[in-house]
Amino acid sequence: MLNYKIILMGSGGVGKSALTQRFISGNFVEAYDPTIEDCYQKTININDETCKLEILDTAGTEQFSSMRDVYIKSGDAFVIVYSINSTSTFNDISSIIEQINSIKDSDPAPIIIVGNKSDLDDEREVDEELGQTLAKSTHSSFIEASAKLNSNVNEIFYDLLRQLANK
Ligand code: GDP
Ligand code: MG
Repeated sequence: MLNYKIILMGSGGVGKSALTQRFISGNFVEAYDPTIEDCYQKTININDETCKLEILDTAGTEQFSSMRDVYIKSGDAFVIVYSINSTSTFNDISSIIEQINSIKDSDPAPIIIVGNKSDLDDEREVDEELGQTLAKSTHSSFIEASAKLNSNVNEIFYDLLRQLANK
């Protein structure tokens, strides 16, 4: 059986917990305790193969980046989230991707950059092209999603599974 650990990272408030809960339970959780960091499991079938996913929803409460190193080392693939209505959350993700790639230096880690809250297009601060360009330059995938509308949420995880299968 395949067994992968997926880590969600990104600034506070971008929707990491909402995406995780939507994928795990199918529901949109409007207000999720921002301090909760937990690991969830989901078993899925792809191409007649059973795949057990462990999903770590980080809370970003670690005091030192060396603590981030610990869970980056344990991860097989990464979901890096910003929200399309906040430029500062987009600016935060480059250094996270650099940190992942410096730790996983043997071969580039499977990463998908997610512009969440695509339902808030009227508050948009980050053009889709900016996300696409960053993804290209970091050899990552890119998708805009909405945990609220359940748009492109499953696709995030299936993209990572494709990347893992092609490694
Ligand atoms: P986290 O700190 O990254 O885990 O963010 P949360 O999942 O706790 O979400 C922060 C806030 O954004 C909450 O009020 C959520 O209801 C809201 N939120 C999360 N995802 C979406 C989304 O796709 N669209 C909208 N409009 N709000 C969202
Ligand atoms: Mg959270």
